[in-house]
Amino acid sequence: MLKIKIADIKQGSSALETTVKPSDIGLASEQEFKDPIDLLVSINRISNTITTDIQIQTRIDLVCDRCTEPFQTDFYHDVRFIYTRDIDMAQAEEDLVFVLDKHQNEIDLTEPLRQTMLLEIPFKRICQPECSGLCARCGVNLNKTRCDCKDEEIDPRWEKLRELLNND
Ligand SMILES: [Zn+2]
Ligand SMILES: [Zn+2]
Repeated sequence: MLKIKIADIKQGSSALETTVKPSDIGLASEQEFKDPIDLLVSINRISNTITTDIQIQTRIDLVCDRCTEPFQTDFYHDVRFIYTRDIDMAQAEEDLVFVLDKHQNEIDLTEPLRQTMLLEIPFKRICQPECSGLCARCGVNLNKTRCDCKDEEIDPRWEKLRELLNND
């Protein structure tokens, strides 16, 4: 859980640096998130509107689409959440805005953070730009080893020529 008491947030700017485990923000069952997650939360409070700019930094575990090997990559993402008691503001803003009800005495970053991180898992997963992938014929990982499949491939034009030669 990543909650901040509203009473503890001073007017103006403040910052909070913390490291959480994936399980702290509901990401325990995601295979992509295993490493600790560093969060730098810049808070700006004006009256009862609290803007949080969060820098998320961690490493994520992926499986390469081409060679099917697991790999790790850096994960950086910045996101802004706004918590407010001003309903007009909530409707006007384009950022993620959450309306605080009268009795709410803390802001909870947990769920918005969890959803943001799930959305930011890369769609394309390539271990390295020059990944050669798997051989379509024999399935070996071409980053690690070579195979002879290409050499064995018979060009259909040569096949025709061979037939002609054989007929002579
Ligand atoms: Zn790969
Ligand atoms: Zn092969």
